[in-house]
Amino acid sequence: DEDLALLGRDDGDDVADDEEATRPVVAIIGRPNVGKSTLVNRIIGRREAVVEDVPGVTRDRVAYDGDWSGRNFTLVDTGGWEIDATGIHLRVAEQAEVAVDLADAVLFVVDATVGATDDDEAVVKLLRRSGKPVILIANKVDDQRGEADAAALWNLGLGQPWPVSALHGRGTGDALDALLEVLPEKSSVSGAYQRGGPRRVALLGRPNVGKSSLLNKLAGEERVVVDEMAGTTRDPVDELIELGGKTWRFVDTAGIRRRVHQTRGADFYASLRTQTALEKAEVAVVLLDAANPLTEQDVRIISQVIEAGRGLVLAYNKWDLTDEERRYYLEREIERDLVQIPWAPRVNVSARTGRHLEKLVPAIETALDSWETRVPTGRLNAFLGEVVSAHPHPVRGGKQPRILFATQAGTRPPRFVVFASGFIEAGYRRFIERRLREEFGFEGTPIELSVRVRE
Ligand code: GDP
Ligand code: GDP
Repeated sequence: DEDLALLGRDDGDDVADDEEATRPVVAIIGRPNVGKSTLVNRIIGRREAVVEDVPGVTRDRVAYDGDWSGRNFTLVDTGGWEIDATGIHLRVAEQAEVAVDLADAVLFVVDATVGATDDDEAVVKLLRRSGKPVILIANKVDDQRGEADAAALWNLGLGQPWPVSALHGRGTGDALDALLEVLPEKSSVSGAYQRGGPRRVALLGRPNVGKSSLLNKLAGEERVVVDEMAGTTRDPVDELIELGGKTWRFVDTAGIRRRVHQTRGADFYASLRTQTALEKAEVAVVLLDAANPLTEQDVRIISQVIEAGRGLVLAYNKWDLTDEERRYYLEREIERDLVQIPWAPRVNVSARTGRHLEKLVPAIETALDSWETRVPTGRLNAFLGEVVSAHPHPVRGGKQPRILFATQAGTRPPRFVVFASGFIEAGYRRFIERRLREEFGFEGTPIELSVRVRE
């Protein structure tokens, strides 16, 4: 039953060993209906070992444990693509782009019986740009007669097409052997599927808010660039930076340091970039301009962090440009515009003067601690019991829904499931969430609370 499945879900908190942390990631991409899911099932032997489903825009991306010839990898299925009439090319490419960014190698699946379509061509372009190793799977080659269809895919310019029947297993072994040849031993992506290693931070904010200034100031001379792939135009670069005696991984800093030339849909790409960085990060530092009012774009970025379920720290930059009057109005703005997130730690910094930069690390650490907090079930229920008896749910239509018990179903971010005897109103849910925060802190992390009704 659904409840049990949820409760039993192991979100992998305790498996941060080295092998897992560096296990290479393989993304399966391709148009809808080309046979991706069938291929995934073939590779994982229908064990359906879901490692983690990653929250974000690409909600349906699922990671599995895969192995072949004694080597382990994480297999990421991009699932179904949302197709809208206006922008299918963009959408297919967009989904693929995020998946490719987060992978060490790609299985690109094409339906050989259909041949390459315009969408396939669009994906080929971005695969080339990515510089990642690609194994081209010519799927639905169920027998000898299909081999000619497969050969036609040489035209894509991705090298040898591997004729495969995901349905019957034909040719999959050879294709996987080829995959292992190009797959690195250790992952070089700091993907959302990994555990362990330096904590991963995304530095976000709208243009000109001071991201690159801050990054430069923080990095100083210590800067180490990792993951730079030669010859690619769209290389996500992570930087390892020493702060407060620890090493931190600032993800996707290429987009921060280099102004990306964009003519069309700059906003869309900015938001996609933010999304990609968030997928990799555990915590986000959102830079805001202390000298100017909050903008819609600021709010959008903050919402993206919350929706992605990552830790959140707000850094008001350019503090050196504020005077007493501005600071007075800033406080009013914060009360008005950020009333929903009183839980996000705030630091007032200046990338120019270096003011209060030392406060950034403690704020990030607080957010990460909260993000990983697990409240023991006993303590949770003892607390909820008190709250609920002091403030029971209002009676509605002669009935009073009761909270039966609650459990924390996961961490990163904390996710709670409350079991109730009837429908719980949104206002009461918010009340419980507020009380949970008062009791257990959760400073710097979104929390999720879902209600299950037990008849
Ligand atoms: P996805 O949308 O890319 O994940 O595609 P699915 O795995 O759901 O497959 C789409 C359809 O193609 C299903 O009806 C599959 O049974 C079928 N299919 C997948 N692989 C093969 C294959 O190798 N040969 C044949 N004949 N059909 C296949
Ligand atoms: P990015 O687009 O977010 O990477 O922003 P930049 O780091 O390029 O900064 C945009 C402009 O703001 C530059 O002219 C910076 O010198 C300036 N700037 C950045 N941080 C500060 C700060 O703390 N104080 C002041 N006065 N200016 C800043």
